[in-house]
Amino acid sequence: MQGRAKTTPAVLILLGPPGAGKGTQARMLEERYGLIQLSTGDLLRAAVAAGTPAGKAAKAVMEAGQLVSDDIVLAILKERMAAPDVKAGVILDGFPRTDGQATALDGLLAASGQKVTAAISLEVDDEAMVARVSGRTTCAGCGEGYHDEFKRPATAGVCDKCGGTEFKRRADDNAETARERLKAYHDQTAPLIAHYAKAGVLETIDAMGSIDEIASGLDQIVARVSAP
Ligand code: ADP
Repeated sequence: MQGRAKTTPAVLILLGPPGAGKGTQARMLEERYGLIQLSTGDLLRAAVAAGTPAGKAAKAVMEAGQLVSDDIVLAILKERMAAPDVKAGVILDGFPRTDGQATALDGLLAASGQKVTAAISLEVDDEAMVARVSGRTTCAGCGEGYHDEFKRPATAGVCDKCGGTEFKRRADDNAETARERLKAYHDQTAPLIAHYAKAGVLETIDAMGSIDEIASGLDQIVARVSAP
């Protein structure tokens, strides 16, 4: 395809509404390709848990299902991008989410001679997303994601990955906040699809299938954008 950088995927963006499976797929891509998953949601939740000034400012906004300000998100992202491990390449999960963030990312990458390799839009149905988000849990030990209905551990109450028995549920994973988050996605993040289409790096994937089906679709995209 014309205009596409045929290099090792260095910067993959996963775009999609809450519940589309960005986090699950990012973790799988991280394992398969040695890329680093970079989730601004995880970074913000860590800041909230640590009680940093950014975390204190973000907490109520996140619980209301709205977007944290670009200033806070960009500061947190830049700090993480400066760490040496990200040189292996990154999967951005939940970032960028606004036009300002996308422009800032383009500038940040350009400063080190990089650009977005592919922005992959996970296409899903809104109502199914509310159901998915409402049943989510995460292993408190290793962070593996589960769902009450769609992805239970092989042994009830025991994490498949690390054997942990404690599971967490996010404060914003309820039906009401999920609808707010969907609205924020449609209003502020979905327009980025056009930004990446214009840059010639947009890929789309039907994300209504099973986790494995979506993973194999993503593999095909990664193979295509990495082809010499
Ligand atoms: P999801 O993709 O399921 O909505 P995330 O973990 O990515 O979950 O985000 C959770 C919350 O963190 C968002 O609703 C928002 O308040 C905040 N957040 C995460 N990433 C960003 C971002 N890039 N810009 C603004 N707010 C963000």
